Amino acid sequence: MTPGEFSYSNGLLACEDVSLEDIAQAHGTPAYVYSRRAIVSRFRSYGQALAGLPHRVCYSVKANSNIAVLSTLAHEGAGFDIVSGGELYRVLAAGGDPATVVFSGVGKTEPELRFALQKGIHSFNCESEAELDLLSRCSVGLQRPASIALRVNPDVDAITHPYISTGLRQHKFGIDFAAAEALYARAAALPGIVPEGVSCHIGSQMLDIDPLLESTDKVLALAGRLRGSGLAIRYLDLGGGLGVRYRPGDRAVPIRDLIGRLRPRIQASGLTLMLEPGRSIAAEAGVLLTRVLLVKHNGEKTFVIVDAAMNDLIRPALYQAHHEIVPVKGAADSDHRFTADVVGPVCESGDFIARNRELPRVQPGDLLAILTVGAYGFSLASNYNSRPRPCELLIDGSTVHLGRRRETYEDLLRGESIPV
Ligand SMILES: *Cc1c(COP(=O)(O)O)cnc(C)c1O
Repeated sequence: MTPGEFSYSNGLLACEDVSLEDIAQAHGTPAYVYSRRAIVSRFRSYGQALAGLPHRVCYSVKANSNIAVLSTLAHEGAGFDIVSGGELYRVLAAGGDPATVVFSGVGKTEPELRFALQKGIHSFNCESEAELDLLSRCSVGLQRPASIALRVNPDVDAITHPYISTGLRQHKFGIDFAAAEALYARAAALPGIVPEGVSCHIGSQMLDIDPLLESTDKVLALAGRLRGSGLAIRYLDLGGGLGVRYRPGDRAVPIRDLIGRLRPRIQASGLTLMLEPGRSIAAEAGVLLTRVLLVKHNGEKTFVIVDAAMNDLIRPALYQAHHEIVPVKGAADSDHRFTADVVGPVCESGDFIARNRELPRVQPGDLLAILTVGAYGFSLASNYNSRPRPCELLIDGSTVHLGRRRETYEDLLRGESIPV
């Protein structure tokens, strides 16, 4: 089960036209390998499904923020959803148009708001009265009006992992639905603040779109009431959250099916639809290439120790996430399978890539590909255990672009100093 852009050719797993063995040879392991074609095709799926409907697709930068990925999407006409000043800096460095940027997040700082206003971003998704007051002051000071949406909390359960569900009252995100209209009225009265949108984002890795449709109906009704009260609401931002297949048995909703269900709802409203997909664009486009260091037996258990660890890919430890693992050299003797934990070298029991996983027989030196890691893979990586972060490679046909070189020991110390 490999996404289309990763397939076996002459017994070796390849990304587009480049074998992963050649990549490991040239660039070492662990290495993140992204298919440009996969990123572009997922993004275009949104555009094709949305044809004829006024829309903007703002890729959620936090999913994969490498500037090679961002520039690929900027060329395709993507807008960007950011959650920090650092992400805006990346979008600008990648050649993204600030006029396509929406700024989300529950705790934006004054320097971040000022930076975004100075660059002339499209709009701010605001999450509290205090943020509106701060944004108003910044806007007046810089003489730059701020287009805003309130991120409302439609109180629907996205039915996903608790750490990536965001649309319930108990979560820190968004504004209580019942309080939204009063806050819109306050916002409209603040100098420099122009309420033009309604936004929500109820969670991530959604494999069932009913919660998304339910929240869409709620925010559409709210937008109607706000217009009735005289506000010039033009945008409906439904956030991101569409899930992908991590396990062979997962049933992800295809992008066109989601849009097909949204279309009639939005069409009647005359609003411009904004979406903020991250995972559904980047996840399937990436693998983490890793080498087996050794195989260790502890009593009953077998451990395959690989050179990628939780600092490189934290999703299994953080979300109990499942990632398929396949050998780069296609295993012909598929009956020689065994069960093992695939773990990294980091000093934490939580440092695992997979537990009790059935694998083809592996030996030290073998290459494995950890699948579906293009989103929330490198972007969540750290230097824990003083491990330099892996390189990131963007494959385009037979071309290999080094999107980020492997970190060195010098990189680890950058910015540090010894007291005198
Ligand atoms: C994380 C996030 C997204 C992207 O979510 P995906 O599940 O990756 O599509 C979109 N909007 C907001 C506000 C987010 O926080």
